[in-house]
Amino acid sequence: MIKAIIHADLFDYVDFRQDYYILFDTQILEVGPMKDFAGADEVFDAKGYVMTPGLVNGHSHIYSTFARGWNTPCNAKNFTEFLEQMWWKLDRVLDQEAVYYSGLLSALECLENGVTTVVDHHASGQYIKGSLATLKKSVCDEIGLRGVFCFETSDRFDLQTCIEENMAFAKGSKTSTAAGVFGMHANMTLSNRSLETIKEQIGDMPIHIHVGESKDDGEYTQKVSGQTVVERLDHFGLINKNAILSHCIYLTEKDKDLLKEKSIYIAVNPTSNMNNGVGLPDVKGLMNRGIKCLIGSDGLGSHFARDIQNLLYTMHLKYQDAQAFGLADIASIIGHNYEYASTLLGCKLGRLQKGYEADFIALPYNPPTPMDSNNVLGHFFYGMLENFKPDYVWCKGEERVAQGKVKRDTSTIYKEARQVAAKVWEKTNQR
Ligand SMILES: [Zn+2]
Repeated sequence: MIKAIIHADLFDYVDFRQDYYILFDTQILEVGPMKDFAGADEVFDAKGYVMTPGLVNGHSHIYSTFARGWNTPCNAKNFTEFLEQMWWKLDRVLDQEAVYYSGLLSALECLENGVTTVVDHHASGQYIKGSLATLKKSVCDEIGLRGVFCFETSDRFDLQTCIEENMAFAKGSKTSTAAGVFGMHANMTLSNRSLETIKEQIGDMPIHIHVGESKDDGEYTQKVSGQTVVERLDHFGLINKNAILSHCIYLTEKDKDLLKEKSIYIAVNPTSNMNNGVGLPDVKGLMNRGIKCLIGSDGLGSHFARDIQNLLYTMHLKYQDAQAFGLADIASIIGHNYEYASTLLGCKLGRLQKGYEADFIALPYNPPTPMDSNNVLGHFFYGMLENFKPDYVWCKGEERVAQGKVKRDTSTIYKEARQVAAKVWEKTNQR
């Protein structure tokens, strides 16, 4: 069946076209001005909407879904203690049921916030083998998103099981719906021996790892290797093409120069960084070196528009300069999110053009000032992102959200998820 969206204003961070149509099945078949529209089997009138590609979240932790409302004593004096008293207490008790339901819930909320692809960094201590397939089942098969998944290999868990889980999933899942990379938690949870073992087994596979999120990561690395966080990973041959290094707040100038030579991505997570009080990355310094940055949520909520806005605001604050980081930088980073996901999933995401996947959203937007291709980015950032609730969301050509709500009865899922979350919280108290 050929579907069409008509009378749409199209904005894909590169082009802005008014009163256009999109012809699509699972992919975009044709895009053109309304005067050329010749009909379709099913038509959606998008008058009053701006159509944009569905967003890609470049670094998430779906397992953190059940942290919402969780009361647990925390008296952390540094970031490592914060991980120990919060996140590690949670992730180590997650079992298959918890992984599955966190995936369902997170994916539902992603869709309603216009996110159609998620790059996830997963951990579940009670359930390592098979966990990525379970996550893919809930996020992709049940709810209909695309995903790039990996497991946070670390010395906290059985190393070999983590390695095998990453390898098995990546090998078995190479579609435009789901792919796998090699997940590692961080320098500070991996010994030299572990890094050596990982390298022996993964070869040139792209990794996804936290780097320099806090000072602790650098201090540990210095102690065990006499190197910086980037030098140590490079020493073990782990900074392969298409790697994601997440956060990169505490990097030396030498680290940044070293990364310039690598075809990697740095995922920045400004909202999470503010929440954790860990500092902010030198995004402009990285971009000036030609290093590609992604934007992620780090698993903090699903309202991804807020992360995009916070990136600009935090950079202005960091550099104490409102000109230091601009809307063009934002558009470039969003473009890198699409590029990374397209590369890993082997499909074309992020443009409203023929040959791209039919992942797009309809945002109700009534511009209060003139809007054209010269200022649409300003309307997007200061207007659409302000109230980023798409009325309609399509992923793989399937309408998944209508009138702002996922098109299925979610009441049972939410009810069951609350029961699973209560069990998870109970388990965190028992240990
Ligand atoms: Zn993270």
